[in-house]
Amino acid sequence: MSKTIAVIEGDDAAPEAVRPVVGLLDSLQLGLTWVYPEVGEAAEAARPSDAAGSTFPDSARAVIDAADTTLFGSTSGKSGAALGYLRWGKETFANVRPCRYLPGCASPLRHPEGIDFVIVRENLEDLYVGAEGPLADLAALNLVGRTIRKPVHELGDGRYAIKAITREGTERVVSFAFDLAAKRDGKRKLTCATKHNMLRGTDGLFLNVAREIAADYPDIEFESFIVDDFACRMIREPERFDVVVMPNQYGDILSDAAGGLLGSLGLAASGCFGSDYAYFEPAHGTAPDIAGSNIINPTATILSATMMLDYLGLETAAARIEDALARVYADGSALTPDQGGTATTTEFCAALAQAL
Ligand code: ATP
Repeated sequence: MSKTIAVIEGDDAAPEAVRPVVGLLDSLQLGLTWVYPEVGEAAEAARPSDAAGSTFPDSARAVIDAADTTLFGSTSGKSGAALGYLRWGKETFANVRPCRYLPGCASPLRHPEGIDFVIVRENLEDLYVGAEGPLADLAALNLVGRTIRKPVHELGDGRYAIKAITREGTERVVSFAFDLAAKRDGKRKLTCATKHNMLRGTDGLFLNVAREIAADYPDIEFESFIVDDFACRMIREPERFDVVVMPNQYGDILSDAAGGLLGSLGLAASGCFGSDYAYFEPAHGTAPDIAGSNIINPTATILSATMMLDYLGLETAAARIEDALARVYADGSALTPDQGGTATTTEFCAALAQAL
């Protein structure tokens, strides 16, 4: 059955990775239809007279709504409204970021073999609810900090940010992570990383909910670490992890660090899943420093696209592309500069097409 994919190429160097990946998938004749919602600067230029919000017009939203999924490059700003819709509008609450060693990739570790874990980052809550303001505004609440033992607004001239963790939001992401651990051909283990010793109310709730849900999955081993301890273990013994769940901000930071274990953000794929929608984007940013040089590593976009194919029920094609990608890395002659090679993005994609 034909599937429709909305493509938002993104900003800076991101389109240089997205375009060849779309070309590659298209060449496999999987019955995919590509549609391009007009967002960001292109949308603004098309409708200069529109009021604010014209970087994400209703027509673009309709294209996304009608598609089965969205492949997103990466945004540095103007296509951000579309990303906000895909994330908060579509309630894609679980950000899945795999970290799997490909023999031949330029990992800085001496023994990267066996690294194969997935970070599931809660994607909607935590410090990223976007509620910040002047500390003085808290005077009316007379909020006393547990550690500082005085009203927070008395700290001085400054700003606050709200960290919000809900039971429902935690339940759904933790259940998602347990289901993933049950489905994966892995170590059948879920690790939870929180700062519950300091943040007893918020991270304490996250951990308690995770412990409660663990009782529903007796076949999956459950363990928890304080997030700073986890960070150290992730570098020292990454091969011991399978699925790791954590609140939004820790997941954001540590999944980029996990990309570092493989030697480049260019290898870090990601998919954001909700109850009835998912979209896929590389975990890295728009790499503005290398925009226009045709050297962006498209691996993160390719692996995001194979996650997307899995989601669309095209698992065989996804596995075929991942096998071919593994051969390109094992061969090593067509790698991009971030992986110690000299190939351009075009040359890398040609080698992948050849391997396919
Ligand atoms: P953001 O805040 O959106 O994550 P950023 O500018 O902090 O953006 P990136 O855009 O991810 O971070 O770039 C960080 C560094 O990693 C840059 O030097 C960039 O060139 C490099 N980089 C990121 N992605 C890739 C990639 N796919 N291939 C090669 N280098 C990359």
